[in-house]
Amino acid sequence: MAQTAAEVLQMIKDQDIQMIDLKFIDLPGIWQHLTVHRSQIDESSFTEGVAFDGSSIRGWKAINESDMSMVPDPTTAWIDPFMKEPTLSLVCSIKEPRTGEWYERCPRVIAQKALDYLKSSGIGDTAYFGPEAEFFIFDDVRYDTTSNSSYYHVDSVEGRWNTGREEEGGNLGYKPNYKGGYFPVSPTDTSQDMRTEMLLTMADCGVPIEKHHHEVATGGQCELGFKFGEMIEAADWLMTYKYCIKNVAKKYGKTVTFMPKPLFEDNGSGMHTHQSIWKNGDTLMAGQRYAGLSELATYYIGGILKHAPALLAFTNPSTNSYKRLVPGFEAPVNLVYSNGNRSAAVRIPLSGDNPKAKRLEFRCPDPTANPYLAFAAMLCAGIDGIKNKIEPPEPIDQDIYELSPEELAKIASTPGSLKEALSALENDHEFLTVGGVFTADFIQNWISYKLDTEVIPMDIRPHPYELALYYDC
Ligand code: GLN
Ligand code: MG
Ligand code: MG
Ligand code: MG
Repeated sequence: MAQTAAEVLQMIKDQDIQMIDLKFIDLPGIWQHLTVHRSQIDESSFTEGVAFDGSSIRGWKAINESDMSMVPDPTTAWIDPFMKEPTLSLVCSIKEPRTGEWYERCPRVIAQKALDYLKSSGIGDTAYFGPEAEFFIFDDVRYDTTSNSSYYHVDSVEGRWNTGREEEGGNLGYKPNYKGGYFPVSPTDTSQDMRTEMLLTMADCGVPIEKHHHEVATGGQCELGFKFGEMIEAADWLMTYKYCIKNVAKKYGKTVTFMPKPLFEDNGSGMHTHQSIWKNGDTLMAGQRYAGLSELATYYIGGILKHAPALLAFTNPSTNSYKRLVPGFEAPVNLVYSNGNRSAAVRIPLSGDNPKAKRLEFRCPDPTANPYLAFAAMLCAGIDGIKNKIEPPEPIDQDIYELSPEELAKIASTPGSLKEALSALENDHEFLTVGGVFTADFIQNWISYKLDTEVIPMDIRPHPYELALYYDC
């Protein structure tokens, strides 16, 4: 793997690369790209960047101030397996060409600022993140967002549990039972070969792959695993993960969705995020407190749990996110931590005798999160917890879904909707701005972008279920 601009330029020569595909992350978390001929790339491209018009990128610049430049990161070079001509892919961060400053609304720039803040605070010198994004593979999906009675329909690859009801007709042999997807072998598992191809393709793109498996929900829910990485690298890998998964599925004539809750009454898709802070090559997470955590790790968790309602505006940033965060489907609804208990928002996975593996797993996030913003926000919440010595609420080792109503009443829960999370962010964002990581303008822009393009448009559309409830009123 290349490390420097000179090495990338050498790679272009040696491997007879024709085209360079420059990718960057937009505000909602989708890769956008511009492809240039090799003649357009030289040493200066890696410092000054390549110019493009930023005016039509969602949530960014106005048309009268649209000039921007993408600056490729030489450590992200891989040959794009989905392009016919030899094409080198490079992930970029965004600069303002007029001032030469990094663009404050670029999510990758914000992630870098969060790491800089960690260093300047003296707490640690790096943070490792390990996201586990789940997804569904579908045969077909149809929706109509323009009609008044917006409808959608999903054909699941596994047929039987389509939107919670049994499908009519067809051969129901070798179909996973309800919540029985985790994880019988073939022929019940129908996406084995596809998942292997997804994983091996990711490896070709430089992601340190580990495993893949079917997930609990029927209808084709799956998860692939890669190793944890330094915060920005892990976010880059997650984007490569989604890119490879979607494009390999397309080769098989399937589609993939990372939306958190596509099917009613079945498990949703989370993006549990493992995290740890390190200094001088050693973890700061292991110690003598509950679950073998250090004091610092306990305060980190205190920060995450205290700011969780606001944090979810970044880690669970869609209206659909809150349809996943309901009891009974392995998704957390309570803001507590626990040693191994999967119904808690923060879990401390078993790390055996290896203190270096000590980490926390925040289970709220889902794959609609922009990973750069979500990781940066979680790190800021953790730093705030450490700086202010925030003790988390008492750990809970029982299954929280089983607690009595009186006991449950004492536990804080996750916000009920994106609107609630955005209003929590409105009231609680100093932990994000204090170290200069997020600007106040960014937070306001995020809140109004989400309200105007997602929350309000959803609220004003009659829902199919309302017809069932109120048609005969
Ligand atoms: N799908 C579950 C969630 O929504 C997690 C299932 C699991 O990985 N144990 O978080
Ligand atoms: Mg997993
Ligand atoms: Mg999982
Ligand atoms: Mg997990």
